[in-house]
Amino acid sequence: MFRTHTCGELRLDNAGINVTLSGWVQRTREFGGMTFVDVRDRYGITQLVFNMSTDADLCEKANKLGREFVIQAKGTVSERTNKNPNLPTGDIEIMVNELTILNASKVPPFLVEEETDGGDDLRMKYRYLDLRRNNVQNNIILRHRVAQEARRYLCDNNFLEIETPFLIKSTPEGARDFVVPSRMNPGEFYALPQSPQTFKQLLMVSGFDKYFQIVRCFRDEDLRADRQPEFTQIDCEMSYVEQEDILQMFEGLLRHVFQAIKGVDLGEIQRMDFDDAMRLYGKDKPDTRFEMTFVELNDVAQNKGFKVFDAAELVVGICAKGCGNYTRKQLDGLTDWMKRPQIGAKGLVYVKCNEDGTFKSSVDKFFGQEELKAWADKMGAKPGDLLLIVSGNKEKARKQMGELRLEMGERLGLRKADEFKALWVLNFPLLERDEEAGRWNPCHHPFTRPQKGFESIENWGDIKADAYDFVLNGNEIAGGSIRIHERGLQEKVFELLGMSEEESEEKFGFLMGAFEYGAPPHGGIAFGFDRLCAIMGGAESIRDFIAFPKNNSGRDMMIDAPSLIDDEQYAELHILPNAELAD
Ligand code: ASP
Repeated sequence: MFRTHTCGELRLDNAGINVTLSGWVQRTREFGGMTFVDVRDRYGITQLVFNMSTDADLCEKANKLGREFVIQAKGTVSERTNKNPNLPTGDIEIMVNELTILNASKVPPFLVEEETDGGDDLRMKYRYLDLRRNNVQNNIILRHRVAQEARRYLCDNNFLEIETPFLIKSTPEGARDFVVPSRMNPGEFYALPQSPQTFKQLLMVSGFDKYFQIVRCFRDEDLRADRQPEFTQIDCEMSYVEQEDILQMFEGLLRHVFQAIKGVDLGEIQRMDFDDAMRLYGKDKPDTRFEMTFVELNDVAQNKGFKVFDAAELVVGICAKGCGNYTRKQLDGLTDWMKRPQIGAKGLVYVKCNEDGTFKSSVDKFFGQEELKAWADKMGAKPGDLLLIVSGNKEKARKQMGELRLEMGERLGLRKADEFKALWVLNFPLLERDEEAGRWNPCHHPFTRPQKGFESIENWGDIKADAYDFVLNGNEIAGGSIRIHERGLQEKVFELLGMSEEESEEKFGFLMGAFEYGAPPHGGIAFGFDRLCAIMGGAESIRDFIAFPKNNSGRDMMIDAPSLIDDEQYAELHILPNAELAD
């Protein structure tokens, strides 16, 4: 038997029993004729003790153990004199009487401990070692549990788990497709799914009624921070539902998962109009763990002679509580932060609400105390607060203010990793204008149902979608919509999106064809599973919640992919190597 117990299992109650443990050597220490070895496995760490005076040979053997050797130790559990309250096994140690080296290890390229000295690249290259660290392992274990609980909830609610193919043709979710050349069909390519969207809709046509899948999706996007070219969704679809049915079912899913795994009651789940989210938070995924909502100041700040405000479509501010004592340097720092290209503000106006009831602003030249007081009143500011104001084009000013609000929330410690605030954002526009390309794009995807018919609507931008986003702590963790299930309406939407009849038939003829054979009304949603796990784990990045992630350039550093292929492979796949294409 390799082991009787795991390295995370033994407690004071077990004192006196003989045990066998197997695991990796985390570190060894020699101290006053004794050798201590920390042995680690997935379950934890246990201290082994070797005593020079009882068995010198054995102790010598232990002294030679290197980091990450795989060992087996037999011995007796005994109470520690020097207990370690930070370790669940910290009350005991094993007095070892037999040690077997199961496999030696080279010196690892970085410390395989919670606090490691390895940089990102090195850890990615040796991901199998990085994954040995208990904290990283715990993330992967959390992921497993979230998947289990999601499955449990969905199965209890009568959902069927059904797989859909990976070698398909394009499903538009707004990214580029990864394509796979077909050897058997010269010159033709499969696309990897950006999501199972069209298949899950077809499953509704087939009568499966309630579907889910924990499924990989592939999107060839420029990798902005913390995106992965392949990622996982909890993908769901239901027939005979309205928006309200979906909201309740999937609120239930999130509640269940949080309760089961974190013992957290999510409390009331707010619902917010897209328009309000933009007006009050400048974002369609507001972080509602804190207030600091926008106040529009056009009526009190314009036409007083300050040209910048007068020329602006929107003058908007936030009130940072208790920041009225910010120094000149801090305010300049904030202004510079806003002027960085990522934010792109031209400037930042501030008003300090002094404790004595007076105001000090960066625009004192244009506005008197009475006027500044009117702003402060409108913003609900108290002495000691700081007003921060931007102006300009409505969309841009909101965007900039949205970033500033998050930054101030961060500085004030209002974005707590262990606090969870979920909300639905509803009533999205159906279409958004791509000015560069001079056309309309779907806000969600082209299968989303408009709230009303649109024969009579002049401005396409005003058409609302029957779509919803589920937002958690400022992250979109799920999104979905009620779908179009009639051929005519679907054709009309493709037409609005600038697709010719031939094009929509070629790309989505199969789906529209299916709609002609009794497609039931249906709708669904998909959760970003990696992100959900990261938030539940209190982490910023999804990378450590994926066993084998890719880096920011979409590379797997460990297996070194993507990589070149042989000339024969090119030939077999009927594609030309790069060199020939260049000729
Ligand atoms: N397929 C959609 C997505 O990936 C989700 C949905 O509409 O159900 O965002």
